[in-house]
Amino acid sequence: MNTDVINPEQGNRKFLAKLEEREVDVQACYQCGRCSAGCPITEFFDITTMEAVRLAAYGMEDILLRSKTIWLCAACETCATRCPNDIDIAVLMDVLRELALRKGVEPAEPRVAAFHSSFLGSIEHWGRAYEIGLIAAFKIRSGDYTGDMNLGMKMFSKGKLSLMPHSVKGKQEIKKIFSGKGKEYER
Ligand code: SF4
Ligand code: SF4
Repeated sequence: MNTDVINPEQGNRKFLAKLEEREVDVQACYQCGRCSAGCPITEFFDITTMEAVRLAAYGMEDILLRSKTIWLCAACETCATRCPNDIDIAVLMDVLRELALRKGVEPAEPRVAAFHSSFLGSIEHWGRAYEIGLIAAFKIRSGDYTGDMNLGMKMFSKGKLSLMPHSVKGKQEIKKIFSGKGKEYER
């Protein structure tokens, strides 16, 4: 449970405009709690799903960007499916992660952020997830050099991890998608 004092008058209007642009209508929330009740990992959150939506409606971006919740959300969409007002909370979490990265807010769950960055880096560079490269990038970013070593060795011995990346079509198109990053939201 987050205990920061909320003052709607201090809400960030630009943040609210950004949510509107992504069609996340947080103002429609009437706090029924169906989203939080259905979230499979709510027990690990420091801000519950319904609290996150209310904080977003007040424009309290700074509290949200510092939360563990935005990094732990698995984007399963259960909350959005259960919401009677069609509020897409998974997109809200996406927007919050993007903002946290662009504004240089230290992720409250650094290993999750390290995995996100490594995965996206792999897609940008290779056009697909190149597992060995992804694992190496994650280990360097997270400093976790020995975790899941046995699992990795098993996968490698069964041919599930290839040493070289497979070629894919349309790599340039994929790179173009990434070239627009960072320009969409600036204070
Ligand atoms: S289910 Fe929808 S309306 Fe209900 S608390 Fe969650 S976001 Fe708000
Ligand atoms: S999308 Fe995220 S917040 Fe929504 S139910 Fe899934 S894990 Fe929970």
